[in-house]
Amino acid sequence: MRFPLFDTHTHFDVPDFDSDRIELAQQAKIVGVERLILIGFSESRFSDLIRTQHELNQLQHAPISYLAPGLHPFYVEQHLPEHLERLEQILKQESCVAVGEIGLDTFLSQHKQPEIYQKQKDFFSNQLELARQYDKPVLLHIRKAHADVLHILKQQHFKLGGIAHAFSGGVEEAKAFIQLGFKLGITGQITNPNAKKLHRVVAEVGIEHLVLETDCPDMTPLCCQQSTEHRTRNTPVNLPYVLEGLAASLTIDEETVAQKVWENSLKALQLTQ
Ligand SMILES: [Zn+2]
Repeated sequence: MRFPLFDTHTHFDVPDFDSDRIELAQQAKIVGVERLILIGFSESRFSDLIRTQHELNQLQHAPISYLAPGLHPFYVEQHLPEHLERLEQILKQESCVAVGEIGLDTFLSQHKQPEIYQKQKDFFSNQLELARQYDKPVLLHIRKAHADVLHILKQQHFKLGGIAHAFSGGVEEAKAFIQLGFKLGITGQITNPNAKKLHRVVAEVGIEHLVLETDCPDMTPLCCQQSTEHRTRNTPVNLPYVLEGLAASLTIDEETVAQKVWENSLKALQLTQ
C-alpha cells in the first residue's frame, strides 16, 4: 500500500545526492512521498540549499520541496554573526516553511566548553528571535541538551512551535516539548527493536504528536542498511519504512498512522493544506 507521506527532515541538498537526486525524487514520489523539507545547517550551504529547492520544484513527478534555512549547533565553530544577516535575507526573499535546524548539541566534549556552549546558545536565541519576527515555526536539533533548550524556549516565550527532530529525549522531556507546541520527529531508528527509550516515548506520547522524517543521508532504517562497517546512504525513498516501523511500534495500522502524521506535519508547519 502507498500512503501520502511528508518527509519533515532531509539533507537532500548535500553532494551525496548530486549524481542521482532527480531519480531519487521521482522514486520517492512513486512510493508516496508527496512533500519534503530541505533543512539548513551551515551558511556555506545556503545557496545550494535554495538552488536544490528550486530545481526539485521544477520537476513534474517529484515531491513538493520546502525550505527551512538555519544554522546548526553542531557546526557552531563555523558560524559568524553575518550568517544571521544572510539567514534573515533568505527569510525575506524565499518562501520558507520554518527556521532550522537550530538548537543545542553537547555530544562532543569540546562543545561543552563554556565559551563554545554560550555561542551555541546565542545563535539559538538569535534564530528563535528571527523565527518570531518572520512568524515561522522552528525545527529543533537537540543532543544531550534538552533541559537547556526547553529553558531558552520558555525564557523567550516562543509560541510558534515546530518539530523536535530525531527526538532522543525521555518521556518527561517529550511531554515538555509537546506542551510548548512541538511535534516529535521519528526517524528510521524506530525500526530498531533495541531503541527502547524511543519506543517508550512513542508509546507514552501516542500518535497525536508525532511526525515522520528520514534525516537523509543519515539514520538509515535497519532494513535498508547494507553493511555494518560502512554507512549506507539514507534517502527519502526509505520513508515508508519509517512509517512501517512507527505503525508496528504503536500497534496501529499503517493507514491510520499515515493519515495522522500527515495532519500533524501540516499543523506543525502551519500549512493549511
Ligand atoms: Zn538534520
